Amino acid sequence: MHTKPRILILTTGGTITMLRNEDGTLSPCRDAGVLLECVPELRQIADIDLLALANIDSSNLQPGLWKSVATAIYQRMDEYDGFVVTHGTDTIAYTSAALAFMIQELPKPIVVTGAQVPLGEIGNDGHVNLINAVRVATSDLAEVAVVFGSQIIYGTRAKKTSVFDLQAIVSVNEHPMGDIGLFIKFNATPRARNSRKPLLQPCLNENVARIAVYPGFKPDILEYLVRVHDGIVLEGYGAGHIPTETNSLVPAIKAATARNVPVVVCTQCIVGSTQMEIYQVGRDALEAGAIPALDMTSETAMVKLMWVLGQTGDMVTIHSKMQKPFVREIHPLS
Ligand code: ASP
Repeated sequence: MHTKPRILILTTGGTITMLRNEDGTLSPCRDAGVLLECVPELRQIADIDLLALANIDSSNLQPGLWKSVATAIYQRMDEYDGFVVTHGTDTIAYTSAALAFMIQELPKPIVVTGAQVPLGEIGNDGHVNLINAVRVATSDLAEVAVVFGSQIIYGTRAKKTSVFDLQAIVSVNEHPMGDIGLFIKFNATPRARNSRKPLLQPCLNENVARIAVYPGFKPDILEYLVRVHDGIVLEGYGAGHIPTETNSLVPAIKAATARNVPVVVCTQCIVGSTQMEIYQVGRDALEAGAIPALDMTSETAMVKLMWVLGQTGDMVTIHSKMQKPFVREIHPLS
């Protein structure tokens, strides 16, 4: 009989489960069970099971792992009260967004966490992040959340913004779902735990490229990407602006649109939304067929485009799904 909540921790690797080698480098440790040895308090909060899905630096992660994590959780949804995924910080934002899209109608919490400093080291943040992740996974929540430092972040709103700060991952363009201080405080009204039947939609079209515009960017690069991909996320300047004079990207966007290859334009800025009708350099992109990403992060825009293209190749449907909120990833313009 279980008196405590049942939590499954799925490990994928990352600093949180890394050990320091003799030469000073960090690499994944072989036994993820180290988590429970290093953080014995976890057993006071919940009955914990461990599932080692991967043991990699998240820079080596490929989209197939998103599907493995989503499927592993989906298959065990009835057995546990909540799920914690331990992950490297470098690509945590992609994985949390992918989980949010792939499991729709989520009935209970999935919490993704990681660390800047490995568990075994003095001053590490893995210990506290893991404890807080398990606490949030036992809460009355039905969201994919990233728990990091003092923030509880919607899975589609996370971004790694620092290689130094212990608050390495922050919430972008959305108030954090909650804050962690003396106690855990939920700010808004995240979806509450419920008895819905979750829906697994793991199908992705991984053939999506993402590239940032920069002064001197050669249109041939975009033309090439369009020829060999099914979708493009183009990081424009400011509110979604692209070069339209020397090295104009307008013909490449027109060609992509004519070939049914969506070009989703997001901003290189961290904060704010595309607003492509303000300047001519945005309007021209829109008229060429670009789809504004609005306030989605570029990581989320990319994962979402893969997910949408996994469901449809119809340009009108792609356009409308990219601008429709599914899991708090976008604030549509009113
Ligand atoms: N390179 C590591 C990773 O993403 C960094 C970290 O976990 O903080 O796996």
